[in-house]
Amino acid sequence: MNHPHSPTIAAIATANGRGGVGIIRISGKDLLPFAQAISGGKTPKPRTALYTDFLAADGSAIDNGLLLYFASPASFTGEDVIELQGHGGQIVLQMLLARCVELGARLAEAGEFSKRAFLNNKMDLAQAESVADLIDASSQAAARMAMRSLKGVFSQQIHALVDDLITLRMLVEATLDFPEEDIDFLQAADAKGKLASLQTQLANIFAHAQQGAILREGMNVVLVGAPNVGKSSLLNALAGDDVAIVTDIAGTTRDTVREYITLDGVPIHITDTAGLRQTDDIVEQIGIQRSEKAVQNADVALILIDPNEGLNDTTREILFRLPENLKCIEIHNKIDLKNDNPSVENRSGSLKNETGASTIIKLSAKTGAGLDLLKHELLQQVGWQGESEGLFLARTRHIHALQTAQTELDNAAACGNHQIELLAEHLRLAQVACNEITGEFTADDLLGVIFSRFCIGK
Ligand code: GDP
Ligand code: ZN
Repeated sequence: MNHPHSPTIAAIATANGRGGVGIIRISGKDLLPFAQAISGGKTPKPRTALYTDFLAADGSAIDNGLLLYFASPASFTGEDVIELQGHGGQIVLQMLLARCVELGARLAEAGEFSKRAFLNNKMDLAQAESVADLIDASSQAAARMAMRSLKGVFSQQIHALVDDLITLRMLVEATLDFPEEDIDFLQAADAKGKLASLQTQLANIFAHAQQGAILREGMNVVLVGAPNVGKSSLLNALAGDDVAIVTDIAGTTRDTVREYITLDGVPIHITDTAGLRQTDDIVEQIGIQRSEKAVQNADVALILIDPNEGLNDTTREILFRLPENLKCIEIHNKIDLKNDNPSVENRSGSLKNETGASTIIKLSAKTGAGLDLLKHELLQQVGWQGESEGLFLARTRHIHALQTAQTELDNAAACGNHQIELLAEHLRLAQVACNEITGEFTADDLLGVIFSRFCIGK
């Protein structure tokens, strides 16, 4: 994929704010004239730091610092790249950026450097995405796994799969040209066996990708329950410090309060919902609307119950408003008041509790007893198996593509001996799905969406 029209782009690559050093990054076709113009006639050697003034049009110095020149194709984008490393003040950086525009660059769009790197085959789409994921990583584990994707762990597995898929497709399509020998030929070449091993290979990648997606996407948890059962207290206990207002007056948590924690590296968003019930109070109504939205987006609901009161009408009304398939954990809070021990109990089928929860945890938000049980259970619910070698960060997009590929391979496996054309088509579609991950055949509009979510200067 070569794009003939590729204007010079420039952006401040360092974070917005004060810093010791601020970097402007420029990418374009032939940047030596640019380097000479901004340095007052000096010619930089590739990959060598050049200490120089950065000059305005009238020859005065805007700033001084290091100019780095990366000659095409040995650069991040594959084009000529220049980095101006100056002082990290926003005004001076803006002035430098304006000077770059004067010299013919235009302001880079979000993710445009990475997009060029992708278009110039410096990395595939999954790797380009991992650049953004590494920058956005919300935990050390996520950062480590983004780095593995960036180094191509994920892409290599997809490429290996696609290679095998192509081998099988060639076999099948060769048969199409000689229909009289089809079945014998495919049997002799063990097409069925090859297909089965492709399915195993894909299932393996899928399992890893799912773990990677958990680490990237995390999970949304909502705390629901009648006023005063201890929702705010539990949120605080999980977060480890006071974020919500804890009071003894019913209905005081009028806002939806969100807290972000990581468990074993997995990002978890917890929302303390307001009562989720009918009310005439306007302020409370707004909180309730937000709570309902949080509940709709939730992966798991923690239903808090005061063990002394059990399931009261308020709680029943709240339960009635929960989405049907939402996973629920029943929390019996305040065990310290009864001198009870923390515990986890799993129930299934008809033994499920009235709340519909299959897990019941007894704990105390106040003393913290049983919190570890809850944390462990949350990781179980999301399916996190812990960090291990071979994992990589994956996006929902990747999961969907892998699912499509799986369906197509299943369809292929279900083809009868005389449905060779159909078999060939399913294999082709499986490959299309895999190629979407690495970006071989990805539509331009999808690329636009993916890269526009990057930050400017990356
Ligand atoms: P919310 O309305 O559901 O958010 O409940 P709060 O978190 O505001 O708690 C209501 C009251 O119950 C407060 O006085 C808390 O201190 C108290 N409380 C919450 N959890 C516990 C607990 O585990 N043990 C005891 N003894 N009191 C608790
Ligand atoms: Zn509260």
